[in-house]
Amino acid sequence: MSDSSNRKQAIVIGGGIAGLTTCYRLITESVKRGIPLDVKLLEAENRVGGAIHTSKQDGYVIEHGPDVFISTKPWAKALCEELGIADQFQGTNQEERRSFVLRKGRLYPVPDGFYLMAPASFWPFVRTPIFSWSGKLRMGLDWVIPRRRGDEDESLEGFITRRLGKEAFTRIAQPMIGGIYTADGKDLSLKATMPQFLEMEKKHRSIIKALVARKKESQGGASGTSGARYSLFLSFKDGMQTLTDTLAARLPDGCIQLGTPVSSLNYHSHEEKWDVHLANGEQMESDLVCLALPAHRTADLVKTVSPVLSESLASIPYASSAIVNLGFRRTDVEHPLNGMGFVVPTVEERSIIGCTFSSVKFTDRAPADYALLRAYVGGAGSRGEAYFNLSESEIVESVLRELHELLGIKGDPQFALVAKHPTAMAQYHLGHLDLVDEIEAQARKLPGFALAGNAYRGIGIPDCINSGEQAASLLLEHG
Ligand SMILES: Cc1cc2nc3c(=O)[nH]c(=O)nc-3n(C[C@H](O)[C@H](O)[C@H](O)COP(=O)(O)OP(=O)(O)OC[C@H]3O[C@@H](n4cnc5c(N)ncnc54)[C@H](O)[C@@H]3O)c2cc1C
Repeated sequence: MSDSSNRKQAIVIGGGIAGLTTCYRLITESVKRGIPLDVKLLEAENRVGGAIHTSKQDGYVIEHGPDVFISTKPWAKALCEELGIADQFQGTNQEERRSFVLRKGRLYPVPDGFYLMAPASFWPFVRTPIFSWSGKLRMGLDWVIPRRRGDEDESLEGFITRRLGKEAFTRIAQPMIGGIYTADGKDLSLKATMPQFLEMEKKHRSIIKALVARKKESQGGASGTSGARYSLFLSFKDGMQTLTDTLAARLPDGCIQLGTPVSSLNYHSHEEKWDVHLANGEQMESDLVCLALPAHRTADLVKTVSPVLSESLASIPYASSAIVNLGFRRTDVEHPLNGMGFVVPTVEERSIIGCTFSSVKFTDRAPADYALLRAYVGGAGSRGEAYFNLSESEIVESVLRELHELLGIKGDPQFALVAKHPTAMAQYHLGHLDLVDEIEAQARKLPGFALAGNAYRGIGIPDCINSGEQAASLLLEHG
């Protein structure tokens, strides 16, 4: 090991899951490789975690941001195992795996065997009132419609309408997939978000055929379920913040600097150093920098260093969403809450785009005899934006009005907590992957510089963790 004069400095900007992972990995790997490195994390807010935020009150465990991560993408699960918190995993309730979809003011269960956009079981699909007869017949045509030629990017709406018809899009895929990305399906790149469906078309031609084959292969893995495959989703018994709190606790004392917004960067090629300018007028020097921020923020910071990179970053659109957590006496809710929650197609013209029955989805999230509900408002598009821009009390009023009607709620909630996430969800529009290739090529021209976060190659927590791991290894290769 060398003395302090040849120790390198790394600054990570942004303390969400991507930035925390970058710091943690920079530290563990530099120690492993014997690289003398000091790491600092600069976070604008007075807490780390970014979108991930759990609170507890009166026996409730309340998620103000994400509430699960998918375990099929390996990076989150692997990191949790390494951190020794896998014993705190909490899976979703296996007994109530169905979800509901709203049609003309009524909630109907998503038919058994249905996966995001298409059915894999015949009779539940035939019987469901979610689609009209003509809609069902049109979906059946997927069995015979030929493959598309060419490889150009296609929107979620374009793909589903072409293969399964308009109703499959408006009545189920838009609320289920659009809901995950809080996105407008006509803009969403299928290649960047759901490439598995493109693969299905390539391999099986028909999506229904592919899902039936997958169901047979998994020998019941997808059968008997509806909507999302909940058994694949994990949280922690004390909520998602377990992950970010653990990461933060593993960083050395003094590594995290809270309440420190960064305003711009400069690079001095002679000294091969970065100047990091803080909003309070102070300045810090570093050999390596990682920007783990929403792309629009990163765009502001790199304006003088690389106007071209800044412009590309600024062209990634973002959507806003709000989460409203509400606690009710169980006897005040008429609906049996026999599922994970419901989604709302845009054509239903409601303020709520979805609602999770959190105390059903997970055990011990509400006191006995109480129910915890979590409604989503906002998303891309003028309607979602208009609802997001309402005041918190107006949002609660609107959500309550709709929940009273849809779930037969009688009394007032014990509490209603609104968490607004302005411009937090990157929108992977058509051509997104090409744009990211371009951004990465421009970023590689900057020495000791890396990007991480949800703007690039996946918005989910495992993807953000992967982006942090990649950023750390890029910086260590440079250093
Ligand atoms: C409401 C909501 C629900 C979601 N649900 C799920 C889910 O259930 N499962 C799932 O896998 N994913 C979900 N996601 C997506 C996932 O949670 C996010 O993509 C991920 O947490 C983003 O992490 P990040 O580190 O990239 O960014 P962020 O969490 O946004 O962190 C960025 C950090 O940078 C800080 N910052 C910003 N500007 C500056 C500056 N100038 N200087 C210093 N610091 C700055 C911010 O304060 C913030 O802490 C959800 C996202 C949202 C918003």
